[in-house]
Amino acid sequence: MRIKILGCSGGVGPGLRTTSLLIDDELLIDAGTGVGDLALSQMRRIRHVVLTHSHLDHVCGLAFMADNLFDLIDEPITVHASETTLQVVQEHIFNWKIWPDFSKLPTPKNPLLRWQTMPVNTPLDVGNGRSVLSFDVLHTVPGVGVAVQCKTGIFAFSGDTYATDLLWDALNALPRLDMLMIEIAFPDEQGELAETSRHFTPSLLGRELAKLRHKPQLLLTHHKPGTEGLIQRECTEALAGWDYHHLEAGEIFML
Ligand SMILES: [Zn+2]
Ligand SMILES: [Zn+2]
Repeated sequence: MRIKILGCSGGVGPGLRTTSLLIDDELLIDAGTGVGDLALSQMRRIRHVVLTHSHLDHVCGLAFMADNLFDLIDEPITVHASETTLQVVQEHIFNWKIWPDFSKLPTPKNPLLRWQTMPVNTPLDVGNGRSVLSFDVLHTVPGVGVAVQCKTGIFAFSGDTYATDLLWDALNALPRLDMLMIEIAFPDEQGELAETSRHFTPSLLGRELAKLRHKPQLLLTHHKPGTEGLIQRECTEALAGWDYHHLEAGEIFML
């Protein structure tokens, strides 16, 4: 499994892209602004998109990707998400007012996008021996994390979440966990904001990780622009003993 980090920032700025991961060139997990760095030929190869939740920093790239691919693909791209997330994205983005409804274009019979409800805790076959399992997490809107399983291991992504046993119970139920991409949006001094916006801080994540029975490599994501240095300094203490890495857009990991 080849995991390319298209975007891993909690916002925009020079060199910063919001959440999006490309797996084996065919599976896109979240569609933040990082999608905008893909060439047209790379966008054409994507067959499945999984959305963890409806927030703009995770879905906006889908709108532009669909527009780019108009008339260029033979089969619809399947967009997998919870029922609520799909409803919100259809009602508030692909509604003919903010953006065209690409599940009806170029023609209703042969559209660009196909919406597919993704029930939690139910493995989803995304081809080539890979499957995706989603599980509930705790954010300001209904959100999920995902575990992507292939022959060589399991990679999981927390999505956007605050501390919750839903996350740890789901991860502990996996037979193994090789890599965990997990969010830290705010430094400790913004703990109140992190709690109201349902995001992790370094020390909160450090405490919560005691509940994880696996020892994966941690890939840290979603730092808000301007807080990266402080979060990195706080992690040296908060995540002591863990093998961790602060992600940057463009990085590639093999599993
Ligand atoms: Zn969010
Ligand atoms: Zn986010």
